[in-house]
Amino acid sequence: MLETLRHIVQEVNAAAGLEEALQIIVRRVRAAMNTQVCSVYLRDPSSGRYVFRATQGLNPEQVGLASLAASDGLVGLVAERGEPVNLEDAESHPRFRYLPGIGEEHFHAFLGVPIIHQRGVLGVLVVQQAESRRFDESDEAFLVTLSAQLAGVIAHAQVTGVLVTQALTGTAPAKITGVPGAPGVAIGTVVVVSPGADLYAVQPREAADKRKEVRAFREALQSVQKDIKMVARNLGGELSPEDHALFDVYVSILDDSTIGAEVVGLIKAGQWAQGALSQVMIEHIRHFERMEHSYLKERAVDVRDLGTRVLAYLQAANQEPRVYPDQTILVGEELTATSLGEIPREKLVGLISVRGSGNSHVAILARAMGVPTVMGAVDLPYAKLQDREVIIDGYNGTVHINPLPEIKQRFQRVLDEDNALSRDLESLRDVPCVTLDGQRMPLWVNTGLMVDVTRSLGQGAEGVGLYRTEVPFLLRDRFPSEEEQRQIYREQLEAFAPKPVTMRTLDIGGDKALPYFPIEEENPFLGWRGIRVTLDHPEIFLAQVRAMLKANEDLGNLRIMLPMVCNTSEVDEALDLIHRSHRELAQDGLTGALPPIGVMIEVPAAVYQARALARRVDFISVGSNDLTQYLLAVDRNNSRVAHLYHSLHPAVLQALAYVATASQAEGVPISICGELAGDPGGAVLLLAMGYNSLSMNATSLLKVKKALLNLRRSEARSLLKEVMGLDCAQEVNARLERFLTEHGMAKFIHSPVA
Ligand code: PEP
Ligand code: MG
Repeated sequence: MLETLRHIVQEVNAAAGLEEALQIIVRRVRAAMNTQVCSVYLRDPSSGRYVFRATQGLNPEQVGLASLAASDGLVGLVAERGEPVNLEDAESHPRFRYLPGIGEEHFHAFLGVPIIHQRGVLGVLVVQQAESRRFDESDEAFLVTLSAQLAGVIAHAQVTGVLVTQALTGTAPAKITGVPGAPGVAIGTVVVVSPGADLYAVQPREAADKRKEVRAFREALQSVQKDIKMVARNLGGELSPEDHALFDVYVSILDDSTIGAEVVGLIKAGQWAQGALSQVMIEHIRHFERMEHSYLKERAVDVRDLGTRVLAYLQAANQEPRVYPDQTILVGEELTATSLGEIPREKLVGLISVRGSGNSHVAILARAMGVPTVMGAVDLPYAKLQDREVIIDGYNGTVHINPLPEIKQRFQRVLDEDNALSRDLESLRDVPCVTLDGQRMPLWVNTGLMVDVTRSLGQGAEGVGLYRTEVPFLLRDRFPSEEEQRQIYREQLEAFAPKPVTMRTLDIGGDKALPYFPIEEENPFLGWRGIRVTLDHPEIFLAQVRAMLKANEDLGNLRIMLPMVCNTSEVDEALDLIHRSHRELAQDGLTGALPPIGVMIEVPAAVYQARALARRVDFISVGSNDLTQYLLAVDRNNSRVAHLYHSLHPAVLQALAYVATASQAEGVPISICGELAGDPGGAVLLLAMGYNSLSMNATSLLKVKKALLNLRRSEARSLLKEVMGLDCAQEVNARLERFLTEHGMAKFIHSPVA
C-alpha cells in the first residue's frame, strides 16, 4: 500500500495543472481500491458549493456543472464534519440527496473523506460501489492518508492554476497570502531575480527566426556535451568503467538523433528554442517519473538536469543587460542579501520571497532598509510574473496581482498616509526620547549593510545596539582578511562616533550560511552556530576581534557582543581570547582601553543563567528573535508555522521580564536588539520592564519614539501588570492595540485593506 500511495502522490506532484492532477487522482484511486467509482468534489470559494470536478465511473459530462450546497447531501456531510463517512447503503441515509445527471443511482456503497489543507476543507474525495458493501477500515485509512498528502498539492494547484490562466489573459485579479516581512505598502512592477534556468517556467513563444533558433539550440547542446565530457575527463582515475559509461549515456541522450531531433522538429514547426526544449524535456521527465521501476524513475532526475543545463546556455546567450523599472518589486524563490545589493536602492520599492518568514535575515535587512516585504508566498508562481504590476501589503503579508482599480486606489491611499506619517515623524528626529514623566530611553539601531548607516543617522539613532558583522562576510566569496575587516569596522565606528557601536562577533550557522564555508546539518538551528563556530575556530575569532580593536583606535566607541551563548564557559573562553588579543596589540603599541564586552541572551538556557552571565560581562542584550524561536520551538524561517511565532507570547514576555530583573540584580545594563524592540506596543512593555535601551531597525525608530513620548512610565507599568496576566499572544496583542489607540497612535495599527 505504501508503494501505491507514494506513486500516486509522485504522479500527482508531477502533473501540469489542477485538472491533470484531479484526473490522475480519480484514475489511480479507483484502480488501487478496486472500486467502480472515484470522484473529487472541490469547494468553490465564491459560492461555497462543492463542485463535481473529476470522476472515473460517473457521468464525465457533468464535471464542472453539477454541484452541492455545503449543507446538502453526503458530500456536504463529509465536509461539514471534516471526517470520513462510510455507508453500506447511501440512499437510506437521511442526508442523501439525489444529484440528477451524474449517474450515481446505481451505486450503493459510499466512502467519502474530506480534503483538508491548513484546517480548511478544500473538497471531498469519494469512492462508490454498486453492490452494498461496507468499505473496510484499511480502505478508509488508505483514502484518509492519501487525501492528507494530496491536500497541499491540490491547494497549490488551485491557486497557481487560476494564476496561470490570469497570466495568459492578463486581466483577472488574484490575491496570494504569505507572511509579513517588512511593513509598508508598495505598488510596482515585478523583476524576477535570476530564478536559474527552470524548464517549467519557460513560456511558449513563436520563433522569430527558425534557423537562428536551431543554431542556438545546437550550440547550447554542444556546450553541454563538451561540459559533460570535461567533467568525465577531470574525474578521470576516480571513475570506474561503468561510471564512464554513464557519462557516455548522458552525452547520447542529448544526441541529435534522439531528444535533440525532437526539439529541432518543434523549432522547425515554429516554436522558439527555449519553448521547444522545455516542452520536449518535460514530456520525457514525466515519462520517466511514471515508470514503476525505481532505477528508471531516477533517470527523470538526469533528464531534468541535462535539460536545465542546455536551457541555461540558451538563456545566457539571450541575456540582455537588466533594466530595472522605477518602481521595482524584486521577486525570488529565496531572496538573499546579495540579491538586494544588485539593484539601485532608489528603484527598489518592494520585495517578495517565496520562501522564508518574517524573521528570516533577508526580512530583517528589508526592515532596516525600509522596503515593504512579503515572505513565504509559497503559492506564488513567481517565475511567471516578470513585468507584471503587483501590490504588496507588507503589514499583512499579501500580494495582489492584476489589482482592480478600486483596490489600487485604496492601497495608494495607505501609501500616501504612510508617507505623510513619515514626514510627521521626521520632526522627532532630534527630540530626545523621554516619557511624559521624565524616563529617558535611548533608542539605538541595528545595522549590517552600509546603507543602514546613513538611514540610521537620518532617523536620529543614538548608537548601534547590534552591528551584524556576518553581513559583510555574506557579501563576499571568501573570509575577509583582518585588514579588510578593520576597514569595514572602522567605517561603522567612524560614522557613529562618539556614539557607541555594538559589534557582534561572527554569528553564522542556522539560516546564515556563508557560500564559501557551508555548514550542512540535519538541524542547523540546534547545531553549529554563533559562538560555537567561532570558539572552534579561534583563528577566525581572533582575526575578527583584532580587526575590531584596531578599528577602535582613537575612537573608543566600540562594544563587543557574543551571540548564541548557552554556557558560562563559552563566555570565559571568549573573554580570554579577547583579553589576549587586546594585550598583544597593546604590546605592539595599540592604545585604547579594553572595550565593554556583552552577551546576547538568545536561548532559554541563557535566560535562566542570566545572573551568572551578567556577572562576567559589562552589558546584556536580549536577542528576542532567536529567543522566541527557541522558547516556542518555532523555526523562524518556516512559513508553515509562522502563525505560531509570537514575540508577544506570554512565555516570551515572562522570559524578557526575568532577564531584566536578573541583570538589574547584578547592576548590569540591559538592552534588547530583537525585532520586538521596534514594535511600538512591545517597546512600551520593555520600558515598563526596566530595559535601559532599545535597539531596532532604523525604519521603526521614530514610531517607537513617538509611542514613548506619549506616555508615562507609570501607565506602561500598569499595562505590563495587566498584560502579564493574559493567557495568549492574541490577547496581549489586542490589549496593546487598545492601549495605542487610547494614546492616539491608531495609525501604527494596520488592518488588511483588501
Ligand atoms: C536575535 O536573535 O534576536 C538577534 C538580534 O539576532 P539575529 O536576528 O541576527 O539572529
Ligand atoms: Mg540571533
